[in-house]
Amino acid sequence: MQNEYEIKKEMCEIGRRVYNRGMVAANDGNFSVKLNDNEFLCTPTGVSKGFMTPEYICKVDAEGNVIQANKGFKPSSEIKMHMRVYKERPDVNSVVHAHPLYATTFAIAGIPLTQPIMPEAVIALGCVPIAKYGTPSTVEIPDAISEHLQYFDAVLLENHGALSYSDSLLNAYHKMESLEFYARLLYQSNMLGGPQELSKEQVEKLYEIRRQFGLPGKHPANVCPNAKEGKPSCHSCGSSCGTGTADASADADLVASITKKVMAQLGL
Ligand SMILES: [Zn+2]
Repeated sequence: MQNEYEIKKEMCEIGRRVYNRGMVAANDGNFSVKLNDNEFLCTPTGVSKGFMTPEYICKVDAEGNVIQANKGFKPSSEIKMHMRVYKERPDVNSVVHAHPLYATTFAIAGIPLTQPIMPEAVIALGCVPIAKYGTPSTVEIPDAISEHLQYFDAVLLENHGALSYSDSLLNAYHKMESLEFYARLLYQSNMLGGPQELSKEQVEKLYEIRRQFGLPGKHPANVCPNAKEGKPSCHSCGSSCGTGTADASADADLVASITKKVMAQLGL
């Protein structure tokens, strides 16, 4: 088991990866690690995550109040978003927020990632819904992500960026990498005339592999909100995945055909 200092060092290393891979600009992005039910480590606001050392890292309680922070450092302004994830998902030990270029592009275009195009993305992520836009640093974002937390381990934030969470910092970060790679492949294959999607049968086989692996976290393979309501589930939901509401799900086919037409018109 890592001690606190080792976790802080790992947070600095993840910060370097997030920054060097262009998943954030300037001082953007933030991530946190749960130590126990009332102590959490988080990145500070207003510094580049690519150049942190362990003394930059702040410690907060379950409400986001500062327990310890060195002079000149304040916890991330998005700490409320992190705390909502820990509160509603006791299985989560780390939360990562970034603005990766392609994932954020989809979040800005308002297009969730629901096309099954490659095995790893289907197994690791399933569909990735979009949480409604909220003003950063207010409770609007925590409230917006709340409806998706029980069903997904990664969420796009409308007109903003992306959020991933898992049982460890490395796994939460890897989910962010996978999410960005998926978004990039989807974007680029659309440039070449559109992806060939995996069939329903192929997707179901991948879901079965996911179940056999017993991977941690929630996954639409098991818990898709649409499937529970007997409607088209993840990867056949016509982008209504994660909307959860009866109206939106009932119009799944319509939404799918409109999305396809709009994307075709845009040359996507
Ligand atoms: Zn952000």
